[in-house]
Amino acid sequence: MPLSAPGGGGTRGDRRICLDHIDTEQIGDAKAEWVVALCAVKYVKTDNVCYAACPLEYNGRPCNKKLSEMDNMFTCERCQQTTQPNYRYVSVGGC
Ligand SMILES: [Zn+2]
Repeated sequence: MPLSAPGGGGTRGDRRICLDHIDTEQIGDAKAEWVVALCAVKYVKTDNVCYAACPLEYNGRPCNKKLSEMDNMFTCERCQQTTQPNYRYVSVGGC
């Protein structure tokens, strides 16, 4: 799959870039952008790779907000409920 030239415009969904370019081009700094990440992970940071996410639905969509833990009880500030966490993995790596 060839790399498409950056700045072509209009084909954002089809752009294929390296994850490094997200930093280089500051994608997402000004506004949220979807990127398609297709990469092989070479390394993964071993700390803070997962967090306890809210498994409940909020407005019909998965909440996924980070839960607050206190005395082995996980509470979602948004849903105002105590729940069991759904551990989400944050991949911090390179391609
Ligand atoms: Zn929630």
